[in-house]
Amino acid sequence: MELQRVGFIGLGAMGLPMAKNLQKKGYELHVSAHNNRNPVEELKSNGAIEHNSASEIVANCDVLISILPTDNEIESVLLSEGVLNELTPEKRLIEMTSGSADMMKKLYKIYQEKGVSVLDAPVSGGTAGAENGTLTVMVGGDEGVLEESRELIMAMAAKIYLVGSIGAGKAIKAINQMLAGIHMIASAEAVALAEELEIDKEQLRNVIGSSSGASWMLNAKLDSLTERNFEPGFKLRLMKKDVKIAVDEASKLSLPLANTALELYEKYEGEYCDLDFSAVGKKSLK
Ligand code: NDP
Repeated sequence: MELQRVGFIGLGAMGLPMAKNLQKKGYELHVSAHNNRNPVEELKSNGAIEHNSASEIVANCDVLISILPTDNEIESVLLSEGVLNELTPEKRLIEMTSGSADMMKKLYKIYQEKGVSVLDAPVSGGTAGAENGTLTVMVGGDEGVLEESRELIMAMAAKIYLVGSIGAGKAIKAINQMLAGIHMIASAEAVALAEELEIDKEQLRNVIGSSSGASWMLNAKLDSLTERNFEPGFKLRLMKKDVKIAVDEASKLSLPLANTALELYEKYEGEYCDLDFSAVGKKSLK
């Protein structure tokens, strides 16, 4: 393994287990606390080095990985004056937030002017994928930069797809999230109807699972929906953000399902903000 000091920003439901997998592979981690100190304490107990700010992390790392909630944090952290002042041409950024292609391109342009190599690399696979190191990574960017980063990314992932230039990673992730957001609503409605019609859960799993109505989402969420377990997982406010990215990208198209899904996520965002995104179907279930 090439010796790399890795800065990690965004130690949430995804970032913390991803960072732990990097530690298991021997990478030297550089972190700082935002609001919640617990992830930093956990990583420090395994040897991570704590800094006082994002800019201090950048000053002390060769590769920076970020997985923040939204475009807003990409802007306020990665494009802050303090961070920009610490960028030097030998550094590399692997940006893994589910954000917009426009923000990714803006970030790239500014980092490129500083000579920093950048990969646009959002992920799929949920918190289980983050814990097990089996994420799918959707990369936009230069093939050479990906090859230099492959070993590092594979410490957190099972599959890497190079899908195009900077922005293409964020774009394909937005398409995935549009589908996932719609499939979630459809799955909750299917469970509500099955319960109304007194169809056994295992019959639903097995029969629909091998029929034309099968969906990855129904299979993944069947137990938690029937148990009314809405612990996140993936928070509803983050799914709303993702479906909105897709709808905004599609402003010249007619996408009635995506728009309806967005309306539902917006409707429940206040009440179920930090519950799992499956709570979008809570009111369909008796
Ligand atoms: P969380 O809300 O669990 O975590 C967000 C993390 O970012 C927290 O550690 C938070 O720190 C930190 N943070 C927020 N603002 C700042 C800031 N200004 N500076 C430094 N750190 C900050 O989100 P997730 O981990 O679930 O999601 C992260 C990204 O990954 C999102 O874009 C999401 O859409 C995407 N994603 C999520 C998946 C999931 O299943 N959860 C699956 C695939 C992608 P603190 O808590 O201290 O405020």
